[in-house]
Formats: sequence, C-alpha cells, structure tokens
Amino acid sequence: MIVDFAAATDPGLVRNSNQDSAYADGKFFVVADGMGGHAGGDVASQLAVETLSEALLDGASPQEAIVAANHRVFEAASRDPALEGMGTTVTMAIVNDAKTAVEVLNIGDSRAYLLSRGELSKITSDHTFVQELVDAGSITEEQASTHRARHVLTRVLGIGNYVEADSFQVPVQDGDRLLLCSDGLVNEIQEAQIAELLAAGDPTAAATALVNAANAAGGSDNTTVVVIRFSAESGTRQLVDRTDVARTAFASAPAVSGNLPRFKGQIPAPLPTQLVERSLIAPPAIRLIGFVILLSVVLAAVVLAVSVYVNHSFYVGVSRHQVAIYQGRVGGILWFKPHVVDYTSVRLDQLTQGVRDQIIHGVVEPSIAKAKTFVHNAESQAKAAKVAASPASLLSAVA
Ligand code: MG
Repeated sequence: MIVDFAAATDPGLVRNSNQDSAYADGKFFVVADGMGGHAGGDVASQLAVETLSEALLDGASPQEAIVAANHRVFEAASRDPALEGMGTTVTMAIVNDAKTAVEVLNIGDSRAYLLSRGELSKITSDHTFVQELVDAGSITEEQASTHRARHVLTRVLGIGNYVEADSFQVPVQDGDRLLLCSDGLVNEIQEAQIAELLAAGDPTAAATALVNAANAAGGSDNTTVVVIRFSAESGTRQLVDRTDVARTAFASAPAVSGNLPRFKGQIPAPLPTQLVERSLIAPPAIRLIGFVILLSVVLAAVVLAVSVYVNHSFYVGVSRHQVAIYQGRVGGILWFKPHVVDYTSVRLDQLTQGVRDQIIHGVVEPSIAKAKTFVHNAESQAKAAKVAASPASLLSAVA
C-alpha cells in the first residue's frame, strides 16, 4: 500500500491569527486546534503537535505521546500567567507498519473522517456539550450543528493533570482516504460537500479544495486539514505529496492580507513546496546569514586582539648560537610566528650555564629595551664569573 498525503491550514477570513497546528510525515498525522486567549491557543496547539510528533518518533505509544503533550501544555500554562488556561484539541492518526490500518485518537472537536468506496463516515465523536445531548437523545445532529453551546468542549488537552483520548482502529484499503480536520471545516460546510471534495484529485488538490470551500462559506475560523490517501502499489507514484494551500482565490481578502497560510509544528524532510518553503525556510536562512556575519566579526576581533598582543611581546632567545631578541610569543600563537628583531653580538656559549638554559627556553620581557637589558646583564654576569674563576683573582682573594 502506498500512503500519500497533503496538509493545508489557513487562518480564514475573520481571525487575525491561526491557532491551529498540524503535523504530517507519512506515518503520523496530527491536527490540533488551540484555545485560551490571544497567545495561548497558538502556543498550546504548537506545543501539543511538537510533543506528540517528537514522542511518536521516539517510539512512544500514542497514549504515552498524549500524556507527554498534555503534561507539557499544562506545565507551560502553569508557568506563564499569559498562557493560563490554554489548551488544545488533538486528532491524530498513526498508520501501522503494514499500512493496512490506522489508529485514530482524538480529544475535543477536531475530527477524523474515512472516505471508503464513496462513503464518508465520521470516525471520531466530538467531546462537546452538544454531542452529549445528541448521545442522550435530547437533540438531533442537525440541532447540534446550530446549537449556541456547540463550541463548549468537554475534553481538552492541556488544561488538567490528566486527559484521556478516544482511540479507534480503522482498517484501510486501496482507494480509501482519511481526513483529519479542525472544526473550522465542519462548521462551514456540510459532510456531503466534504465527501465530494475529499474524493476529488490528489491529496494536495483535495486539501486545497476543502480549505478554500470553508473560506468560501464564510471562513469564520481557522481551518486545517490533513488528507491521507491509501493506494495499492503501483509503479511510479510520488510517495510523499504535501503542500500548503495556495489561497489565490482569497488573496485579496482584507482579513487575511499579509497573513500567509502556515504549516506549524515540526516538519521533517522532504520539504513541501511554495508557501511552506517561504514560511519555514526563509527565516532560518536569514538567521544563518546573521550568524555568519556575527561569527566573522567575532573572529576578526579575536585576530586583532591576538595581533596586538603578539606585537607587544618580546623574548630573548637564540638564533644560530647567537643570542637574539624576538618579537612575538615563544612557539607562536595561531599563525603569528615570532621573528628576530635584534641580533646581539653575544654567543650562547659565552654565557653561564644557568642563563643559557633560560635563553634556550626563551626569556619573556615586556619590551625590547628590557630584553636588551637582560642580555647586557647576562653578558656582565658571565664576564664576572669568568674573572672569579681565574687563578689571578684567586690569589688576590687570598692576599
Ligand atoms: Mg477552531
């Protein structure tokens, strides 16, 4: 079985920000719809999607990944007052290794649908107040869709210490399509239209058509969809087909001008095309250029500092048995090698053994004048020692 897919997300025509996040990599798929204030919803859905994808890629079970994501969002909210009360819905799908079945898990009112043999079925059950009324037989599905409390969630990831996801095993066969979506889609268009658009074209075309249809119907919320297609093995089909929405039809709408559709969360290679590349590739590229410039400046400063240091360093050493004064550090620093700035007339063998040993290792002096003084003193010391060792001086000492 071949699994190919596309993901699309759009802020819609009313909201200024997109608090939905998504992840898709061919095996794991997630849609999350955040809530909780201006910043909170955005952060909650992103944190959840990141944590879920990281945990699943690390080999965690779906339930373990849910626990980790819940913990992370809850912790982040309790640390930052600006994020207090944030949470997110989550609908995720994990394709089994044989690609014959999908495990679907959900919390909240983002949904999963399966289109099989032309028939659309809702896999998930919303965790909403109105769904409980429907389940209890108090209202119909139709009444629920317009009920004024239809947005009240009864289960959200990240608002408590513990959350449980519903889990569904969904066998898939050749030609099936799975849809994960945020409520921005289902609040705008009917399931019959969802089935029609989900079936048409490749996953990219279907994902684009679904988001565009939600916007055409009002676009009152952020809309995110992930379309996954299952096909029997065949020659050369592209294994990974993924893109964001090219929202040309709505590009002039004032509510979304300057707001590129985004695909948030962690997206592994291969990278998707066009708009996604602009939003994900360009900023790191700019950061890289900034980093290179900063690194160059730091390196230049280091080289300058070393150069100044070396030019103010001197030592007394030896060059071809002759005592010489060097500029630089003994042994050199980086590519700054020491060089002779003054050859003295003193040979190494004219000096006392102790001074010779010092000079062979290099006698560091703070200036060329101090270095010359050292040589002069060494020479005087050697002469004095020689006189002291001669028989004449011994005699005069006895006398
Ligand atoms: Mg929503």
